[in-house]
Amino acid sequence: MKSETKKCQNCKKDFTIEPEDFNFYQKIKVPPPTFCPECRMQRRMAWRNERTLHRNKCAKTGKSLVSCFAADSPFTIFERDIWWGDEWDPRDYGQDYDFNKPFFAQFRELMERTPQPNLFIGKCVNTFYGNYIGEFKNSYLVSASWGGEDVYYSSRVQNSKNCMDMFTSGDCQFCYDDISSSKCYETFFSQYAEACTSSYFLYDCKNCINCFGCTNLRNKSNCMWNEQLTKEAYDKQLKELNLNSFKNLMLAKEKFENLKMKAIRRYANIIRSTNVSGDNIINSDNCQNCFDLFGEVKDCKFITNCAIKFYTSYDGYGVGANSELVYEAMDSGVDASRLLFTLTAWECLNTEYCINCHGSNNLFGCVGLRNKSYCILNKQYTKEEFLKLREEIMKHMMEMPYSDKRGNVYRYGEYFPAEISPFGYNETVARDYFPINKNDIIKNGYKYIEKEKPEYQATRMAKYLPDNIKDTDEQILKEVIECESCRRPFKIIENELIFLKRFNLALPRKCFECRHQERFKKVNPPKLYHRQCMCGGAESPRTTVEHSHSGQCTNEFETSYAPERPEIVYCEKCFQQEVY
Ligand SMILES: [Zn+2]
Ligand SMILES: [Zn+2]
Ligand SMILES: [Zn+2]
Ligand SMILES: [Zn+2]
Repeated sequence: MKSETKKCQNCKKDFTIEPEDFNFYQKIKVPPPTFCPECRMQRRMAWRNERTLHRNKCAKTGKSLVSCFAADSPFTIFERDIWWGDEWDPRDYGQDYDFNKPFFAQFRELMERTPQPNLFIGKCVNTFYGNYIGEFKNSYLVSASWGGEDVYYSSRVQNSKNCMDMFTSGDCQFCYDDISSSKCYETFFSQYAEACTSSYFLYDCKNCINCFGCTNLRNKSNCMWNEQLTKEAYDKQLKELNLNSFKNLMLAKEKFENLKMKAIRRYANIIRSTNVSGDNIINSDNCQNCFDLFGEVKDCKFITNCAIKFYTSYDGYGVGANSELVYEAMDSGVDASRLLFTLTAWECLNTEYCINCHGSNNLFGCVGLRNKSYCILNKQYTKEEFLKLREEIMKHMMEMPYSDKRGNVYRYGEYFPAEISPFGYNETVARDYFPINKNDIIKNGYKYIEKEKPEYQATRMAKYLPDNIKDTDEQILKEVIECESCRRPFKIIENELIFLKRFNLALPRKCFECRHQERFKKVNPPKLYHRQCMCGGAESPRTTVEHSHSGQCTNEFETSYAPERPEIVYCEKCFQQEVY
């Protein structure tokens, strides 16, 4: 089989389907895609609302609650524990398949009618305002994370304790404002820090203790702005930096951002893996265009955020955990096989076009089923009836496809259209990775959902906060601060104040969402560019050791650093020679 160039229905750009892609589509018996990989990612992401929360009501008890579904949306919401209880049967909401209507129109009706849990959380104790999280204790405003205690204002964090303002990090304790860092202790404002302790403003540092404002360091202590100091000099200078003052903290941040631009970047963070392309990949084999793979991932393509043991799958976000043959899936996996076009499907087999289904097999177009088999649109069938009707529906989806407002056509083989997502485009991860303004959201046929009016009125503008954390007392907990960036009100919580005072760090002037957005922008989007190593080139810093090439290194690679970006990007060989 040869590779084929196709025009994407959605963006009209050309994309290539490789022979191995055709093999995969044949294996799982789906037609090749008509959207390009990027438009497919955008479409899936429009179904995931990690951080926008609304006041809503439980349809069963009338209790007021926090939900990722807006109150004026047509969806029926049950409080999470009731949703997971046995007092209701989602099959009561089932419907016959109507051969006079496109499948996706019928699916949307079923989705509106069948109750949804207010939030997607599991095994959490004393934890508030979180979504897509599991096993958290005493935590607040955490999203898309697994395992933690006393964690606040964080996203994509694993197994961490006493941490605030973290993004894509794990196994950390007493850390603040770190990105893509792991196994750190009392480390602040750092990115790509691994096993570092009592440090500030690190970029790509490993095993460092008592370091401040450093890049590309290994096994060092008492370094400041990449300079080796004595312990006495380091302690003295650290004290003089006075990060308890907001002004000083901002100065240090600015100096660090400038220093970071001089740091050498590895083209991609790929560890113990063979034949892979993407970024942040560990222990994986034969994976292309994949990002954030946490190990034992094999024969996959276009996968982002994947837990261990995941095989022969395409197009997923938040997938994994001992699963195979998954295609076009969000938040799906766990001992799963053959999940096609799913959203939040765990421990399922042979499941297609399903949302929030668990422990089930042989489902088609179902919502909210647990431990069921042979259901279509939440209606129970026998095995024989199921197999026959499924064939008929697949044929019907080809003959009477769904058309969206843009004119895109959805037959069997396409993911759920973004326009039937329960969430506003501006509330979802799609907005984070593919930002478009309100006019374009509406013009594209997506929904725009206004942010709810804040419950509180600001009592103090951020600029009138005391400069020094020392001059801040418990009174601040009663204040409502106006964010200096988006002007929405936010509060300081008690444990946050205790943390900042303990580590002598100034109060933030921006709300948690603006702080999250700042961190988010510091991580490259999941997209690859073909580039050449910059070592020895015009912008490259003078090398400190001899490299095997003369002039500019000719090695080429796939990197998430876009060609127009100012960072200095090296191939693996030159990076290893320079940094280790
Ligand atoms: Zn496209
Ligand atoms: Zn803000
Ligand atoms: Zn090189
Ligand atoms: Zn080199």
